[in-house]
Amino acid sequence: MMRPFVRIGWKVLSDDWQLVIHGGAGGISRESLTSEREGWLRDTLERALQAGGSLLGVGGSSVAAVQAAIVLLEDSPLFNAGKGAAFNAAGVNELDASIMRGSDLQAGAVAGVTRIRNPVLAAHAVMVGSTHVMLAGTGAERFAAERNIELVEPEYFRTEERWRQLERVRAGESGFELGTVGAVARDAERHLAAATSTGGMTNKRYGRVGDSPIIGAGTYADDRSCAVSATGHGEYFIRLSIARTICALVELGGVNLSDAAKDVIGGRLAGLGGEGGIVAIDASGTIVAEFNSSSMYRGWVSAGASPEVRIFQDH
Ligand code: ASP
Repeated sequence: MMRPFVRIGWKVLSDDWQLVIHGGAGGISRESLTSEREGWLRDTLERALQAGGSLLGVGGSSVAAVQAAIVLLEDSPLFNAGKGAAFNAAGVNELDASIMRGSDLQAGAVAGVTRIRNPVLAAHAVMVGSTHVMLAGTGAERFAAERNIELVEPEYFRTEERWRQLERVRAGESGFELGTVGAVARDAERHLAAATSTGGMTNKRYGRVGDSPIIGAGTYADDRSCAVSATGHGEYFIRLSIARTICALVELGGVNLSDAAKDVIGGRLAGLGGEGGIVAIDASGTIVAEFNSSSMYRGWVSAGASPEVRIFQDH
């Protein structure tokens, strides 16, 4: 018997839900992270967990929760999504995002957009308000404008820190933290959802699209198996269909979520030379954060528990 809700006055409080988020995987070292910046990162990740968790706590859907968490991270200049997105080789912020609903496999995505303040909202609009799965470039922006989704001047996304990263990558340095954001959730009705949003990789070629907006690569959700959001070197995640492969191992291979994630991230991705990670949740509410880089900003919250945030491998 399911007993997903408790009623208190007019409020419907759910007693079984989970939300897991990431803020990107990368090679950031403990020494390079100042305590001030670490505090700022942790605080923002916690607020994203609270934004999604407070919806789940009153019976909100997993789709609403992942969207709320990601909007908060997109609005923060700390992460490589929305404000603070990475620059491409032409010095432009081109953003990608996607969202998927596990109950009916509906999905939406936008790619290569330069004027949509919150790309995840546009991806959601594609999912619920069109017969398509992905819209790109100016077509996606026109669609968003028609749906009253906020457009901004391209300069809105610029931060000095990301600009300096572009200059350093152009000069041949590598190993910057990436900062893509993602979320997966399971709501009180046992429905799963996943969403991912990014500015992509610093110095990427103009027009390059990564895994984040590709359903099955950067994002996947199916109530029969799991929900996954990925971060890392997108080309590898596309070739390995990382998010769908993890769910397929769970659904068709009878593998538990933790082993499936280890197989795909620690085995297949690492075997190809790719770097990155995922957060995931399965149909029974098991949560997993798996990565093969030195760090991945991540956090989780569930009914009755406080938000938890982690950064490095050994946490
Ligand atoms: N996966 C993203 C991309 O390749 C980047 C990242 O996750 O940091 O566009």
